[in-house]
Amino acid sequence: MAIALVTTGGTIAMKEQEVGKGAVPTLTGADFLSRLPPGFPEIVVEEHCNLPSSHFTLEILWGLRERVMNLAASPDIEGIVITHGTDTMEETAYLLDITIPTEKPIVLTGAMRTVGEPGYEGFANLVAALRTAASEEASGRGVMVVMNEEIHAARYVTKGHTLSTATFISPGWGPMGRVDGDRVVFAWRPSHKTIPCNGLEEKVCLIKLGVGMGDEILRFALEQGARGVVLEGMGAGRVPHWWMPAIREAVGQGVAVVIASRCPAGRIYDPYGYPGAYRDLRKAGVLFAEGLNGQKARIRLMVVLGMNPKGEELKELWYNGLR
Ligand code: ASP
Repeated sequence: MAIALVTTGGTIAMKEQEVGKGAVPTLTGADFLSRLPPGFPEIVVEEHCNLPSSHFTLEILWGLRERVMNLAASPDIEGIVITHGTDTMEETAYLLDITIPTEKPIVLTGAMRTVGEPGYEGFANLVAALRTAASEEASGRGVMVVMNEEIHAARYVTKGHTLSTATFISPGWGPMGRVDGDRVVFAWRPSHKTIPCNGLEEKVCLIKLGVGMGDEILRFALEQGARGVVLEGMGAGRVPHWWMPAIREAVGQGVAVVIASRCPAGRIYDPYGYPGAYRDLRKAGVLFAEGLNGQKARIRLMVVLGMNPKGEELKELWYNGLR
């Protein structure tokens, strides 16, 4: 049995070609393999792309999902490691988490410092990710992000710092495990369920609310034919009362509206009776993100709408395994 190493680019593969010109994607799968210490099971490399993760299109993302799905189904593969830019790693991790039904470990890793910068941590992260993917303890835990010796669950992990090598955090939960040298240790197991998936609905947008903001941007999204909208509301998902007519109109037109929070942690619920708070939103027929951040709620909504749900199916698919 082998471990599959799928490379996609990111800072872990970036190197400055000319002094002062800035680092660009460079390292290949063979470069990664040549730097590994001995003692790993066989590793098979698949190069998917070599891009900054902010340049991923939905086609590249979906292609990666298809590739990893096939690898997970192969009897020759025991685990999968994906090297990936940190900027959108949490979105890829969550897409794979909710759409690939496998017990095999799928681990994403990357780096914050480029190859050649003092303290480049890419190979150390790669080794920790490979150890995690090779660990029997790692099976059935869903997709994981391994960086800085920590193992994070796809559902909770987020990029928390623009520059720190300790960028990945799971607000409100913490990492579920650690890689201590050659030991892979887990503290808890996340509940994990996949949902049916046909493809991604592209017309889903993410809107963050700020104090005093008008609803024009939501109305514009509706005019542009959005099929789904994720609103990152204030506190426990609350919106200014003047957004409620546009939200009701959206739901009335069959547009799926999801309420997430702009807070880094916590579910959507509150005790209030005023317009734009939880009860009012629930009555308007929105869906709640149940602790997913806005960017992961968008991924989930693209998956759910990709199934073309009718009537109550939307709600069933959305909450399936989320609560
Ligand atoms: N710009 C990089 C990316 O591809 C950042 C990183 O990998 O850390 O997301």
